[in-house]
Amino acid sequence: MNIQWFPGHMTRARRQIQEKLKLIDVVIELLDARIPQSSRNPMIDEILKDKPRLVVLNKNDLADPKVTAEWIRYFAETENLDALPIDASTGFGVKEIIPRAKKLLAHKIEAQIRKGMRPRAIRALIVGIPNVGKSTLINHMAGRKIAATGDKPGVTKAQQWIKVGTEMELLDTPGILWPKFEDQQVGLALAATGAIREEILHLDEIAYYSIQYLIANYPEELKERYSLDKLPTDLEDNQAILAVMEAIGRKRGAIVSGGRVDLDKASVIILRELRNGKITRISLETPGAQIAAEPIME
Ligand code: GDP
Repeated sequence: MNIQWFPGHMTRARRQIQEKLKLIDVVIELLDARIPQSSRNPMIDEILKDKPRLVVLNKNDLADPKVTAEWIRYFAETENLDALPIDASTGFGVKEIIPRAKKLLAHKIEAQIRKGMRPRAIRALIVGIPNVGKSTLINHMAGRKIAATGDKPGVTKAQQWIKVGTEMELLDTPGILWPKFEDQQVGLALAATGAIREEILHLDEIAYYSIQYLIANYPEELKERYSLDKLPTDLEDNQAILAVMEAIGRKRGAIVSGGRVDLDKASVIILRELRNGKITRISLETPGAQIAAEPIME
């Protein structure tokens, strides 16, 4: 999780993936179902070129099912990509990966059969940004612990094939990609879901943005979770948004001496509960409108 990416890392990561592409039939592009756009590598099309690709939306358990359905339609209609929602940690949806990969490679497989060859196992590579769930998925597909969680860009080790049943072989080291850091909105989406180091942005700023987003998109769930009577109607009202954060902090006992709310503690609580699905299943982006609200901190 704690990767600092530099241009050198990016070049090396890209080169490593391109080397591996020669060995494989299909790429599993792992995205975070809550932020399919922000968790995507900005150069992915250029890196993968025309290699058959299955988009897999992980952490489906934390994302809003309605919005995930919109994303699946978006990928099919605008990018002609098959997107599969899964939970790598429980294994929900994971069994669908092989049939989907076979469908993508149907031409190749049929050609092998026509030539009288027995189709060999499909060779696959998982790629994605740090913390998207690559190791968890590899371990689930392997049925045992393979990859160490926690990545180091640019570190190579001897790679091995992991058999997934008889029909697939998976490279044991995933391709690690970088997100689009430069865009502040993307940074906030990544930080809110816990994909990047918090030090890059201030905790209270991420929590502020999250609350603003929740007021705009999940108001009833927010009120319910923290027993709030009403929410501000003006998302640009800085004081009103801060008052919501304070009310949450007060309800959760995040108080400093003198009775003031500790905003940092309140922010930790808000982000923890947002990330582990305690508020509700939340998607932070929809196709077309990635992020609803602009954060304004004083
Ligand atoms: P990697 O850096 O891409 O290899 O990501 P990891 O596999 O280390 O996963 C990062 C974090 O996300 C870990 O805490 C996992 O337990 C968690 N995680 C992975 N998949 C899922 C999922 O489907 N649902 C939920 N809720 N958490 C997940």
